[in-house]
Amino acid sequence: MTENIRLEIVTPAKNVVSEDAQIVMAPGVLGEFGVLVGHTPFLTALKTGIITYKDVDDKERFVFVNGGFAEALPDKVTILSESAERRSDIDLSRAEKAQERALKRLEEDKKGDIDFIRAKTALRRAINRISLAQTR
Ligand code: ATP
Repeated sequence: MTENIRLEIVTPAKNVVSEDAQIVMAPGVLGEFGVLVGHTPFLTALKTGIITYKDVDDKERFVFVNGGFAEALPDKVTILSESAERRSDIDLSRAEKAQERALKRLEEDKKGDIDFIRAKTALRRAINRISLAQTR
């Protein structure tokens, strides 16, 4: 049996995950990376995307993360993010509404009266949530 690594995913609102995992995959700003127990310590910023991990029962789990930071230690991975949700907690219609709002703002930006970067990052969150919620 493989040894497990502890995974903690924390947001200002709540502890989203606090669980042992066999492997954790995360969207680092320099590329996707995987962490197993015994990994050399490192710290990296994250892109908005999906954390994937295999739980102790061999089940693949998926968690949306809104960027943030990952700290990998030999026995623990800690993810700090402004927001994060397990796939099963994603409200698809809320994400679809957020996507519509962001797209509308991006169109309006052609008139030069809105914050383009904010709308783009909101759209990125919505697209990631929608695609994760629709994965089966
Ligand atoms: P919205 O415009 O719908 O609030 P957002 O991308 O601006 O979306 P965030 O700032 O990322 O939202 O998150 C705010 C809080 O709402 C967090 O606690 C986050 O987990 C939660 N949240 C946001 N969107 C969803 C969703 N589609 N399903 C479940 N929880 C969500």
